[in-house]
Amino acid sequence: MKKYIYLDHAATTATRPEVVEAMLPYFTENFGNASSVYELGSRNKEVLNKSRETIAAALGADATEIYFTAGGSESDNWALKATAEAYEKKGRHIITTKIEHHAILHTCEYLEKRGFEVTYLDVDADGRISLDELQAAIRPDTILISVMFANNEIGTIEPIREIGAIAKEHGILFHTDAVQAFAHLKIDVNEMNIDMLSASGHKFNGPKGVGFLYIRKGVKIRSFIHGGAQERKRRAGTENIPGIVGMAKAVELAMANQDETLAHIKETRDYLVDRIMKEIPYTRLNGHKDLRLPGNANFSFQFVEGESLLIMLDMEGICGSSGSACTAGSLDPSHVLMAIGLPHEIAHGSLRLTLGEENTKEEMDFVVEKLKAIVQRLRDMSPLYEDFIKKSQAK
Ligand SMILES: *Cc1c(COP(=O)(O)O)cnc(C)c1O
Repeated sequence: MKKYIYLDHAATTATRPEVVEAMLPYFTENFGNASSVYELGSRNKEVLNKSRETIAAALGADATEIYFTAGGSESDNWALKATAEAYEKKGRHIITTKIEHHAILHTCEYLEKRGFEVTYLDVDADGRISLDELQAAIRPDTILISVMFANNEIGTIEPIREIGAIAKEHGILFHTDAVQAFAHLKIDVNEMNIDMLSASGHKFNGPKGVGFLYIRKGVKIRSFIHGGAQERKRRAGTENIPGIVGMAKAVELAMANQDETLAHIKETRDYLVDRIMKEIPYTRLNGHKDLRLPGNANFSFQFVEGESLLIMLDMEGICGSSGSACTAGSLDPSHVLMAIGLPHEIAHGSLRLTLGEENTKEEMDFVVEKLKAIVQRLRDMSPLYEDFIKKSQAK
């Protein structure tokens, strides 16, 4: 098989071999339904509880506050739609941000069509919300604040602890989409006053199609998937035991040497960023300089078209992602890059590289060399770049 340099960990990650190993028996000899009376099934209840405990411990939560879902999108949909329904007598106003994942933004649009009002907070040039603007947006009918822990495109970390304190002071529920942050940043739901938190297995070397929603005890949230009595009657459906076991194993592995792993990822990322910023002119680093996910790097290269860049990187075996949604059939630049105030033409020349623990400095050297050559080749084909150089030489 072709060898890749995989730099798209924000999109998904490889399931670790130890995780696959842990999952396998639950497809075959331990396949029983946890709701069954006989031992083959019922012993899987214990497995579910153990997985819940492992995940809860990583958040400072109680095991009874973890609800398994089919991933980040479901957790986000559940958190928003079901709290909106459960609290609509109290009010119909929700506060979120302009840079959320579409699992939040499109759910908010859905709720708006059903009579809820949503305030979308702006972010500054680094991608952080303003706490003053949040305070000012709060109304007597505000029932929920949903702000992502860290952004999937530019990596910026939001002031979660401060948002939690504000929400608590006003008696408003606080949900955070922590799909990019969980296992990659330290999270304590009590210290941070988080009432609900979404996460997804495949973003931290677990399997795809499984995630969880943390729901603080006492939060009135409706059931979202109706049917059987699984997940304490809040989320019906036969439990995805192999997936849940795999996700818990991935959490266990991530927590075992979290500090070392994160330090290594950050060091490799910083090395990549330093070289690119020094060696490729007319380049901008998007996102906050320090308050960002350890593995995230996001650049805009002037006079370059992001999609061409991705295709040429792919020919070198380098997997990255662009700042535009062209691949999804739209020519609009990313809503996140627009929200931080990038002009269209700059946003279109964006490249997101997201690192994982297996990436090395040697790989980064290879990436920088290829990237330098590709950016130059694309600029040489750009009439705008030609004009720009002529003008700057005339000065
Ligand atoms: C990936 C992602 C999601 C969606 O998670 P899935 O498990 O793929 O449904 C939601 N929010 C953020 C911030 C993400 O990065």
